[in-house]
Amino acid sequence: MATNYQTIRGNLKAANDNHRVVTTAGALPRSSNRQPRNALLEITQVLQTTLDIEELITLFSAEVARLLDHSGVQYQNTSAGISHTIGQRTLHNCEYRLMMGPEYLGNMTFMRRTRCSEDEANQLENLVCVLMHPLRNALRFHAAVESAHTDPLTGVCNRAALDKALPREFSIARRQDSELSLLMIDIDHFKAINDQHGHVAGDCVLRDIAQRIGDTIRATDILFRYGGEEFLVVLSNTDGAGTELLGERLRRALADMPCTCDETEIPVTISLGGATLNDSESIQDLLKRADDSLYQAKDSGRNRLVISTESDSVTS
Ligand code: GH3
Ligand code: MG
Ligand code: MG
Repeated sequence: MATNYQTIRGNLKAANDNHRVVTTAGALPRSSNRQPRNALLEITQVLQTTLDIEELITLFSAEVARLLDHSGVQYQNTSAGISHTIGQRTLHNCEYRLMMGPEYLGNMTFMRRTRCSEDEANQLENLVCVLMHPLRNALRFHAAVESAHTDPLTGVCNRAALDKALPREFSIARRQDSELSLLMIDIDHFKAINDQHGHVAGDCVLRDIAQRIGDTIRATDILFRYGGEEFLVVLSNTDGAGTELLGERLRRALADMPCTCDETEIPVTISLGGATLNDSESIQDLLKRADDSLYQAKDSGRNRLVISTESDSVTS
């Protein structure tokens, strides 16, 4: 059978480790006595059932386990921000750098209690080749979903991402009886910035502000571009006091340092409205309270934070 894949052995990094580069154009690898072509075809079919990367790696690990002993699998693709580990780390690793032509698909490590024999390493390599096409498809799907959920100007999550994330955060908060807060942010007099400095500078200000908000919030908080010059921060496990602290820190940080666009300093302030989920309200109610607080911040002079209480709002 003609095959159009090739395997390039890398240097052995440690006595117990195999480090290899697998490069394939995607055809089924040569069958061996241990892995008849039927078994490889069956695995291919199983791997074609999902485009979800974690599910794919989990299925792959289970399929490999039917043919070869291993205690776990780790898949990492740093540039795509994906790391998925199944099972346990052990002393003996067999690691593959997965390349499809020039396209890097990630690193795959098999963890074993015993060292891989040459024959087992070759079998693993055959199995890894079967994973290549499904993995590339899953990575492309992942990239498409990421891009559909990213605002192209600022690089932060967009409204479509918010529509998925907010119901999820809401149900987690209800299920775990944990705090959930929102901070609605609107740039003050942004139209005047556009009018005075032009749209390109306005875009630069938007990018700069998104970056600075993103740098100030915690890793578990999520920043969304809510509309033109409006942002929303979703704060899980954060009560009203924590929301006020963060909101005030953001307000001051932006007011204290102008944006620099094309060597021009542009002073910018923001107004913020915060609200924390109460026992009886829906996610729409919570959004409305944050929005109402933002309007109060605007009405009371801008460059302000207003935190909603359930009955009224507190300005700082
Ligand atoms: P306020 O303090 O009341 O919020 O006033 P404002 O001028 O910020 O609000 P207004 O709603 O009057 O104007 C918002 C401006 O934001 C108008 C719109 O052209 C601008 N804008 C929206 N999206 C973008 C964008 O992507 N880039 C640029 N440069 N401007 C944008
Ligand atoms: Mg606005
Ligand atoms: Mg505005």
